[in-house]
Parts: sequence; structure tokens; C-alpha cells
Amino acid sequence: MEEKKKNIPFNHNLFASQMRRIKEHPCFSEQACHLFGRMHLAVAPRCNIQCNYCIRDFDCVNESRPGVCSRVLKPEEAVFYVRKAIKDFPYIKVIAIAGPGEPLYNEETFETLELMKENFPHQMKCLSTNGLLLPEKAERLNDLNVGNLTVTVNSVDPKIGAKIYSFVNYHGKILEGEEGARVLMEKQLEGIKKAIEYKMIVKVNTVYIPGINDEHIIEIAKRVKELGVYMQNLIPLIPQYKFEDIEPPTPEDVEKKQEELGEVLKQMTHCRRCRADAIGRLGYDVQDQIQL
Ligand code: SF4
Ligand code: SF4
Repeated sequence: MEEKKKNIPFNHNLFASQMRRIKEHPCFSEQACHLFGRMHLAVAPRCNIQCNYCIRDFDCVNESRPGVCSRVLKPEEAVFYVRKAIKDFPYIKVIAIAGPGEPLYNEETFETLELMKENFPHQMKCLSTNGLLLPEKAERLNDLNVGNLTVTVNSVDPKIGAKIYSFVNYHGKILEGEEGARVLMEKQLEGIKKAIEYKMIVKVNTVYIPGINDEHIIEIAKRVKELGVYMQNLIPLIPQYKFEDIEPPTPEDVEKKQEELGEVLKQMTHCRRCRADAIGRLGYDVQDQIQL
């Protein structure tokens, strides 16, 4: 009872369809991760921002672990691949697009989601984004039955954001420093608000960067909670690119921070830092068993 109160795990206003999107999604429910699987489709190679912890040769660090390059799939290949995967592994309930770049910046994402809607209407659809284009794409995502969404929010203060992003490419305009960070933050918050109006279940990923945003993450949790975000996933920094000299947080630091944040917003504590092409139950990937 005490635990429930502390981590604010249950919102009594959720509709039945939203409850299913929590209970049967391995990332949104720790219980579900033992029973159900997810399938990441790596169809989105390009990105519209530059995070200072990301080397663009690899998968988007906001959702996946870096260092394992995915083969980028074409939308038509994805249909064949999903059909094979759910036949062999019927516990796969979720079809997700998480990279290897920014899904909303790649038209292939929408082509793939169209095909998924047509061919696999009963599988849940999930997407991860940096949020820059979310306000203008939320309606389209809703039309394509995307019901679970992850947005990476590393700052709600442009001064701090300016230390995290080298640039933001907003419709061809390159914005740097606080200006870029402000536009990104505003679009993320506006997009989250819209997605929640469409009844999507929203998770926020936050990269925990010691000395940069560590003391600020609680402000992010408070702000996104006000918007109706369901859960936050704290991702410890993997030091690379401009942040290669930053000492990453220890597992104890992460646990302590999650405890503090859990007072405000439910925390995800079972994230496995998957590849952008991961398939299967969390921690039991089967992508090597499915031939294209
Ligand atoms: S949004 Fe993802 S792919 Fe783009 S720069 Fe950031 S971590 Fe890298
Ligand atoms: S990286 Fe974390 S949130 Fe994303 S699919 Fe894997 S376990 Fe789920």
C-alpha cells in the first residue's frame, strides 16, 4: 500500500484500452515483460538533432544501446519480417519503431506504420522519439494506431539543454545553444500534451548526465507529470562523443535517483537498453532466429 502511494503507479481515469496498452507492453509493465515481447523495426536511419552523447554511426542512444549497428529495413521488408516473427513467437504483442535515428524525421516510419495497421491490426504500435516533430505528427500517429509513445526529455531549462545538444535542425534551420534547446523543449512538451489528448500512454526517457542535468531531473519529472506522463525511464549516460570524459552514474547513483524521482512519477526500473532491431521478451532476444 505504502509502495503504491510512493510510486504513483495507477491512474484510475485510464480507459480499458489504455490499461491493455500498459498491462501487455513489456516496457510499460514489469509484470508484462515476463509474458509478452516487443519487436523493434529499424526503419528510420536519419536524425534531426545532435545529442552530445551520441555518435551517429550507431543506434539512437535515447532508446537503444549504442555500438550495435542495425541493418536498416525497408517498409515492405518489415511486413514480411513481422509476419514471420509473430508466427514463430506469438507472445510478441508490440510492434515498435525506435530508430536507429529519429523515427518522426523519416517518412519510412509512416509508410511502415501504414503497412502495420493494415496487416497486423491487433498488435500494439509503439514509437520512441526525440519529440521535435511531435506536435505536427501526433495526429498522424494517432490515425496509425500508435498507442504507446516514448519521448526523450533531458532538460526543461534551455540553459541546461544547451549543454546537451550541439544543434537542432528544425525544418532545415540549424539552431544552436539555448535557442535550439528551447525550441526542442517547447516542441517536446507541446507534443506530449497532444499525444496525451489522443489518449496515448506516454513514457519519458531521461539520460542521467552527472554534472550536467543530474540535479535538474526532478524538475523534468514534475513538469511531465503535470502533462499526464505515465512513467519515466532514467538512462545512465554512456560516456562517448562530447561527453566521453564524464564519469557515468553508478548503479547505486541510479537507484538513489530513481527513489527520489519515484516520489513524483512512476519509474521504469527494468529497462534493458535494447538494440533498435531487438525482438522477443526483454533480455531474451530472438532476432538471430528470424531470417529475412
Ligand atoms: S536523437 Fe537519438 S539518434 Fe538523434 S542524436 Fe540524439 S541519441 Fe542520436
Ligand atoms: S530500451 Fe528499454 S524501454 Fe526500450 S524496448 Fe528496451 S526495455 Fe523497453
